[in-house]
Amino acid sequence: MGEGIDILIVEDSPTQALKLQLLLEQQGYRVRVAINGKQGLDMLQKGFYPVVITDWVMPEMDGFQFCQAVRSQEFPGYVYLILLTAKDTRTDIVAGLEAGADDYLIKPVDSAELIARLNTAKRIIRLEHSLRKRNEEIALLSITDPLTRTYNRRYLNEQLPKALNHTFRHSRPLSIAICDIDHFKSINDCYGHQIGDHVLREFAGGIRNVIREGADWVVRYGGEEFLIVLPETDLIGAHRAAERYRLLTADTPILHEDKKIKITASFGVACVYPTEEGRKVTVEALISAADQCMYRAKQEGRNRSFTVALGLKSEE
Ligand code: GH3
Ligand code: MG
Ligand code: MG
Ligand code: MG
Repeated sequence: MGEGIDILIVEDSPTQALKLQLLLEQQGYRVRVAINGKQGLDMLQKGFYPVVITDWVMPEMDGFQFCQAVRSQEFPGYVYLILLTAKDTRTDIVAGLEAGADDYLIKPVDSAELIARLNTAKRIIRLEHSLRKRNEEIALLSITDPLTRTYNRRYLNEQLPKALNHTFRHSRPLSIAICDIDHFKSINDCYGHQIGDHVLREFAGGIRNVIREGADWVVRYGGEEFLIVLPETDLIGAHRAAERYRLLTADTPILHEDKKIKITASFGVACVYPTEEGRKVTVEALISAADQCMYRAKQEGRNRSFTVALGLKSEE
């Protein structure tokens, strides 16, 4: 059965279109009709139809041109095209398939044959869906840190330069915060590596829960070191955010079975302003500035944050 798959019929004869529509709806397909290729293309662009059955001879845009047009465009998924026509010579069939049709049926079509051909279409569509889904999963895995589910360095390398460009293009500041869990080695030494992993996951999850959703993002930058990107955020805003994460970390022990594991983290915040000076700041310089602030926080006793502004003259 059709399992609610959307089919677009492109057919200029209302009686033929209606007959086909009733047959397909009986089979459980959802059906819409376009009266020529031009309207069909328009409907395909507005709402996606994985299966299209098209007539050949139609006014304005015929089925041949329609198949060519569909194949020259991008859609959210594969469009399985069936040409259904009275044109029955071998030359026609070859031309139709070369124009981009996946299948070719000659009118008048036998219902059982059409249904069988649609079952082939469904198999191809299912295959394409599963490949697409798998590709999306792989794409997500390639930018995700497996332990903490935050982004990884690859994502940072791709996206931070874009965030920096955005900042200059829109004349907005950009901040980053680097945080490193304090004395993490002693957590591993005291509780074991697996509980250490649990602490890392919980810490990262805690930060992910409190950052601005849809705007800020977290990267696992090193073993127990994370980098938070805060687009369109000035130094005061970023410092406030870092202090919030820091206090939350210090105030929220991580639970593991009957244990409450207390941790703290040190933060370094760097903000680049879209000034003439700021535009000279590279991604590397921005990260290095935040890193230096984080090291200063370590040196000065840990569980604290330091900040630096780039692109502002001292009198600004
Ligand atoms: P500091 O306050 O100076 O940051 O001290 P620290 O002990 O946190 O820093 P150090 O760099 O000396 O040690 C970091 C530790 O983090 C050592 C390493 O074994 C541990 N670590 C790194 N990655 C992982 C991981 O994926 N899982 C676990 N359990 N431990 C990790
Ligand atoms: Mg026709
Ligand atoms: Mg550390
Ligand atoms: Mg470290």
